[in-house]
Amino acid sequence: MKLEGVHFLLTYKCDLECDHCFVWGSPKASATFTFKHVKNILEEARKLKTVNYVSVEGGEPFLYYPIMVKTVKEAVKLGFHVEILSNCYWATCLEDAIEWLKPIAKLENVELSLSSDLYHGENWVTKEAKNAVKAAKTLNIKAGVIAVKYPDAKTICPSEIEGVKIDLWELMYRGRACSKLAEKAEKKPWNEFTECPYEDFIRQERVHVDPLGYVHVCQGISIGNSWKKPFSKIIQEYDPYQNPVLEPLIHGGPAALVKKFNLPHDEVYADACHLCYAARCMLRNKYPEILVPNQMYGEIEQ
Ligand code: SF4
Repeated sequence: MKLEGVHFLLTYKCDLECDHCFVWGSPKASATFTFKHVKNILEEARKLKTVNYVSVEGGEPFLYYPIMVKTVKEAVKLGFHVEILSNCYWATCLEDAIEWLKPIAKLENVELSLSSDLYHGENWVTKEAKNAVKAAKTLNIKAGVIAVKYPDAKTICPSEIEGVKIDLWELMYRGRACSKLAEKAEKKPWNEFTECPYEDFIRQERVHVDPLGYVHVCQGISIGNSWKKPFSKIIQEYDPYQNPVLEPLIHGGPAALVKKFNLPHDEVYADACHLCYAARCMLRNKYPEILVPNQMYGEIEQ
């Protein structure tokens, strides 16, 4: 695998519990990286010589502010470009948002990716995201905004906040979205989902590492635990064709996963991820080392 990016799920804890969250972020979740573990993964990532960026996300990484800032500083020191994702809960007013962002503003190669949509507030543009964008502009920090499509939205997502472009992402029906949003979605026959739309397991360029040590190629599909085996070794030994869950996904998407294991299924699903997630839930007992952790399947790690 020629790995380019490592995404730290710094914590599964979040101040919110959004319906579309595919890692089941929640105030009830508690699993969080220690800095010692962060450092280990960063050093292991550097050994690979192919990784050029690190993403710090969650849950909500600003909930563990000192560790988040230390993670960002360490990653920058090691030469990685860093992206921080946040829901902006901390940006209660412009002046305070500036204070929150000052320690980051001093660093080079750091950018913010801020969430603002109908999951995070009553309007597409939340007051907090607006404050965070303004603060980032004041401090010359590069920032982008991500919004996720909302079923039955009565208003159209604007294209920008304070001159910063909003990227409108497809809603993916995995994680909590399966139980909260899939029922209302338009659906298609299950056997039409013959490819994975978002991950390329053969040319895997990024992984997510969570606070329990799991290395995910898609959230909830683990290729190893970096507290048990060095992260660099997990990446070097990665062979998707030998992985009983990835192999069918590569050859025929979630429909092939269902066929391979002869799984019971509905006739229609909201999208490929919905079918994939439903199939994986049924396979968890068979592959307890791969389809982990419980948190990614709605059993919140407290
Ligand atoms: S189809 Fe499955 S493996 Fe692919 S992105 Fe969706 S949930 Fe992940």
